[in-house]
Amino acid sequence: RAKTLGKSRVQLFHREMRRSAITRLTLEADLRRAFANGEFVLHYQPIVSLASHEVVGFEALVRWQRPDGVLVYPGDFIPVVEDTGLIVALGFWILREACVTARAWQEAYPRETPLTVSVNISPRQFAEPDLVPQVRRIVEETGIDPHTLRLEITESITIGDADREVSMLSQLKALGIRLSIDDFGTGYSSLSYLHRLPLDVLKIDRSFVSAMDKSAESFQIVNAIMNLARNLGMDVVAEGTEVEGQIARLRSMGCDFGQGYYFSRPVDRAGAARLLEGAQHWKPPT
Ligand code: C2E
Ligand code: MG
Ligand code: MG
Ligand code: MG
Repeated sequence: RAKTLGKSRVQLFHREMRRSAITRLTLEADLRRAFANGEFVLHYQPIVSLASHEVVGFEALVRWQRPDGVLVYPGDFIPVVEDTGLIVALGFWILREACVTARAWQEAYPRETPLTVSVNISPRQFAEPDLVPQVRRIVEETGIDPHTLRLEITESITIGDADREVSMLSQLKALGIRLSIDDFGTGYSSLSYLHRLPLDVLKIDRSFVSAMDKSAESFQIVNAIMNLARNLGMDVVAEGTEVEGQIARLRSMGCDFGQGYYFSRPVDRAGAARLLEGAQHWKPPT
């Protein structure tokens, strides 16, 4: 009896493994087809000056617009796209699309300081040997001013070959591109290592910003990160600013920029244009 029970458990296990392997293979195939069919779209979330409440730029965020009408968020497909290597081709498409769009906005909505566009670069993309020449080509072909382009990297790129990372980032900087460290505070990079990287912008992870009001500890962490950024001469963007009360607190700590649902969720291209036309729902600061 025990034997048959054991056997059926093993069969169940195998069945489940097979099912998840099939799901996975189907998803991989679907994602390749989606890319070939042009089903990926970019949404844009404004980055806003906490002092003036002006939109200073946007972060491009990819979505999969399935033909059945379902919008799939990156958390549900980026890991698969990363594993299969499709992220490399998709990533270059995202960069090109974001640059073309940003250039159009910069022309349609000229500012003293031109609008910026931020694009996420995943660890797998960062490992790509010809990342730098490809980025250079996209910048040249789209005609975007590289000073207005920000590439967002996470601390998880900083676990490989440190010399290569510094060299790659320096080459991107030499093109005139700005670099942001994304989700800061969630990784394990040492401060001395961070200091070696030519970074311009630090984005404080949403988890600290959202916990700031409830826990003194998170407040202290945000404060410490602000001091670190100031000492390294970096601009700071607070991620996940959701409620008005956070804005004044962040400003008092010296944080200049915010990105979050308080200002806007990520919106499509037309929605972003409406924000640039001044149709924001949020009030200017008093
Ligand atoms: P991320 O780069 O940290 O992007 C910010 C994420 O936080 C976005 O989720 C955004 O919608 C969400 N968010 C912004 N403000 C708020 C807020 O106030 N509250 C809450 N709860 N969430 C907020 P999204 O678009 O689902 O993207 C998730 C992650 O997927 C991104 O995190 C990024 O790591 C990755 N990702 C997105 N687009 C791309 C891309 O084009 N390429 C690559 N390689 N990764 C991407
Ligand atoms: Mg990001
Ligand atoms: Mg982030
Ligand atoms: Mg994040």
